Amino acid sequence: MYDVAVIGGGPCGLTAGIYASRSGLNTVILERTAPGGQAATTLAIDNYPGFPDGVDGPGLMTAMEEQAKRFGAGITLAEATSIETGLGEFAVHTTDERLVSKTVIIATGTREKPLGVPGERELRGRGVSYCAVCDGAFFRGKRVVVVGGGDSAITEAIFLARIASRVTVVHRRDALRANKYLQDQAMSNDKIAFAWNSVVTAIEGSDRVEGIVLRDTVTGEKTLVEADGVFIYVGFSPNTEFLKGVVELDAAGYAITDNTLRTSVPGIFAAGDVRVKVLRQIVTAAADGAVAAVSAERYLMGVS
Ligand code: NAP
Repeated sequence: MYDVAVIGGGPCGLTAGIYASRSGLNTVILERTAPGGQAATTLAIDNYPGFPDGVDGPGLMTAMEEQAKRFGAGITLAEATSIETGLGEFAVHTTDERLVSKTVIIATGTREKPLGVPGERELRGRGVSYCAVCDGAFFRGKRVVVVGGGDSAITEAIFLARIASRVTVVHRRDALRANKYLQDQAMSNDKIAFAWNSVVTAIEGSDRVEGIVLRDTVTGEKTLVEADGVFIYVGFSPNTEFLKGVVELDAAGYAITDNTLRTSVPGIFAAGDVRVKVLRQIVTAAADGAVAAVSAERYLMGVS
């Protein structure tokens, strides 16, 4: 039996693994694809403390994984599908097995929201992408569109401008949500253009993306913009489907915790992007991982 089962191997889950295993707790981290989470698909991370020149996401995540393993955390590649409660301990069912643990830390993060327009699903992987770092290289010298106005959209637009011939950021309002530093970088980049007050109503193309249909939200006018790629960054949804009816979630599906990261079920903690919080960053995910591990340790010691 494990002391701590961490579900999710992004910066939060890996940090929880580092803290829990370093405290001598028998710890397993469950990850459905590869450790590192979304941070591992971000090439340049500029705001993680300790790296004055920035750090590459995959490198940072590999280092966290090695650190967790050094303290003895096990990493198992499997997707958690449900948690059984009411047994005194918890049984985490995965696609492969049933793991029993005295505590559970949920660190499953979020996934990209689709735009929900015609052509998006059909052309996914054929010009429609949600990961500039993964797919950007296919668009060298080509025209791409980035949809969204938040930190993700603008970070990735700046990255794509190094590869593509032209990047058009499509935003539904006339002001970006992204932080000022990113805004300034994007606005001063002559390869990046902005389509303000615009929404994508369809992605066109028979076998590959050929363009998008834009609707001006002020005039209602529709235009066809030719493009070879469409990168969609319109926010995220929490990965909590398997928790419905287990712990308390808010209306959007984020896990509700107190400030020691306890959920509504004693012994189950939620940490990182998956919980209700004000700032979703790698540094806050890592911090949550540490808090959740210490809270799990206190729970095991019978001190709260
Ligand atoms: P976000 O902040 O929620 O921004 C989503 C963007 O998509 C907003 O501009 C929103 O427009 C737009 N949008 C939402 N639904 C839309 C729709 N149906 N059609 C068109 N546009 C739509 O999401 P995010 O940028 O992915 O960021 C998520 C979190 O990660 C944030 O906390 C962010 O700070 C963090 N993050 C930080 C960094 C960094 O620090 N470098 C990088 C990436 C992400 P409105 O503005 O009109 O709502």
